[in-house]
Amino acid sequence: MSETGGVAELDPEQELPEIAGGGGEASEGGPKFTLELNQDQKDIREWVHGFAEGVVRPAAEEWDEREETPWPVIQEAANIGLYSFEALGQFWADETGLTLPIANEELFWGDAGIGMAIMGTSLAVAAIFGQGTPEQMGEWIPQCFGTPDDVKLGAFCASEPDAGSDVSAIRTTAKYDEAKDEWVINGQKAWATNGGIANVHVVIASVDRKLGSRGHAAFVIPPGTKGCEQGTKVKKHGLRASHTADVHLDDCRVPGACLLGGKEKLDERLARVREGKKAKSQAAMQTFEASRPTVGAQALGIARAAYEYALEYAKEREQFGRKIIENQSIAFALADMKLEIDAARLLVWRAAWMGRTGQTFENAEGSMSKLKAGEVAVWATERAIQILGGNGYTREFPVERMHRDSKIYTIFEGTSEIQRLVISRAISGVHVK
Ligand SMILES: Cc1cc2nc3c(=O)[nH]c(=O)nc-3n(C[C@H](O)[C@H](O)[C@H](O)COP(=O)(O)OP(=O)(O)OC[C@H]3O[C@@H](n4cnc5c(N)ncnc54)[C@H](O)[C@@H]3O)c2cc1C
Repeated sequence: MSETGGVAELDPEQELPEIAGGGGEASEGGPKFTLELNQDQKDIREWVHGFAEGVVRPAAEEWDEREETPWPVIQEAANIGLYSFEALGQFWADETGLTLPIANEELFWGDAGIGMAIMGTSLAVAAIFGQGTPEQMGEWIPQCFGTPDDVKLGAFCASEPDAGSDVSAIRTTAKYDEAKDEWVINGQKAWATNGGIANVHVVIASVDRKLGSRGHAAFVIPPGTKGCEQGTKVKKHGLRASHTADVHLDDCRVPGACLLGGKEKLDERLARVREGKKAKSQAAMQTFEASRPTVGAQALGIARAAYEYALEYAKEREQFGRKIIENQSIAFALADMKLEIDAARLLVWRAAWMGRTGQTFENAEGSMSKLKAGEVAVWATERAIQILGGNGYTREFPVERMHRDSKIYTIFEGTSEIQRLVISRAISGVHVK
């Protein structure tokens, strides 16, 4: 045994031996671990960043103040192909899973309200993609986006006034009218992004209240369906360029073919549940779980925007005859912001990679990523306001808007408490309440 206790001594001048599968090639047993982005990922990041910097950021203040859907910006995103199923499909196609979070981070770096106005449709698309048959995907996904000549939106409606975190409390019902092969949907949806202004609404409804969330199914409400109306438009703290509204469903009749996945599959699932067997999936939860790292990436975009703004400001602003960044308290705050943002990104990328490569989320890594990124965004944007002082608190500077926008990331797509619940149950196996 050597004096180093069995650890091989390294000559500091010696080059490290070449590692099998180096140079980005896939090694035996799958692709090697790397955080180096490939050229496609870098190109997409640059493309989305260019749009965020050139189009989204300059429009951010105006649409936040107007609190309206920024149709001209969505139109520009459609013109360049960024607002399209093709782009979303391309981001999704990356087999490492990283392109989707990368694109979201860049877009939301531009502005979160406008980012959500562009990306809100993807929640409806994810539900159709996750639960629809190939025919349903082919029919409804293109109608969520429309075309660059006639841009449309999609909306995903799960939440209700009395069913937010507790999805099992959903009261909206869907009853099958066998004679007409139609579903009749009744209920009220709350806080739906693009609710009432979307071309296609995907609605989660209960087909058997006794079964709780296991009795839920997802339905497409086609454009112009009678009985599907926008309720109150919500006035919000942040994300104000993104439309949020109640949706009323009054004897809303949709063709049998609008049940995502089809009736046969639903009947089989309900029969299994009624026999006491485990259901394979829960309609709403499935959609949320798949989208958590992407939502985390949106929060990261806001956090990074605020950090970068505060860093530049601290290098310019002078008090007591020196730049404020020369004070440790400011410099250390910026160091911590960078540290936390990078740590959150690693969690987001891990979860996105796990999801795309079919790994089991044994410790609720998807929830971890969203929880961390959401909380970092709220914290980092608040720090940015502090670094800008009085200016940070005014609407003349963007960090107060970023702080307002960030707060939703500890609330929607599962609150921070619900993420902690999911994680604690996963790590302990205990049904923590
Ligand atoms: C801007 C915006 C956009 C939205 N977009 C959509 C959309 O497109 N589609 C859609 O379906 N929904 C959407 N939502 C709804 C969103 O998902 C819900 O607001 C969210 O799930 C929280 O539900 P809630 O507001 O009813 O809060 P509640 O569930 O009432 O929670 C209130 C508080 O209690 C805590 N709490 C609840 N249960 C527990 C528990 N078991 N343990 C510990 N703490 C608990 C929560 O963490 C929270 O702090 C949106 C909301 C907003 C504000």
